[in-house]
Amino acid sequence: MADCIFCKIIAGQIPAAMLLETDRVVSFLDINPVNPGHALIVPRRHVATLLELNQDELHVAIYAARRVAAAVTEEVGSPAFNLLQNNGRCAGQLIDHVHFHVIPRNPDDGFSLGWRQLQYEEGELKAMQEAIRARL
Ligand code: AMP
Ligand code: ZN
Repeated sequence: MADCIFCKIIAGQIPAAMLLETDRVVSFLDINPVNPGHALIVPRRHVATLLELNQDELHVAIYAARRVAAAVTEEVGSPAFNLLQNNGRCAGQLIDHVHFHVIPRNPDDGFSLGWRQLQYEEGELKAMQEAIRARL
């Protein structure tokens, strides 16, 4: 994709702090990290979201994420990390080339995902379960 920043990084047309390059996936440091060591794992093939990755590509990407997460947390001495993956603008995706974030976390690092916890009304949870199961 001609106007995709991540495709340009993969093609070597713009610089990035590359961590890992294999035939199917690359990883580099996020230029504006949540915490130092924040890394991105990016399949080489340009697709926008997770839903377009095939099983093999996803396997390669998630295994690379595991490798990178181990190296990053060891290097920065973090006891924890988030593996995040945004799909679509309203989910926070800014770059339309599928990628995973590895974000090392530390106690009191000042970052919060702002996770809320809604409640289902009576019967809603079961109806949701059945509706989704019917689509699988
Ligand atoms: P997302 O919001 O999930 O699409 O995440 C996109 C991420 O890409 C953001 O965290 C940006 O800081 C990061 N980013 C954008 N441009 C670059 C770049 N040239 N090199 C490294 N990371 C980048
Ligand atoms: Zn791309």
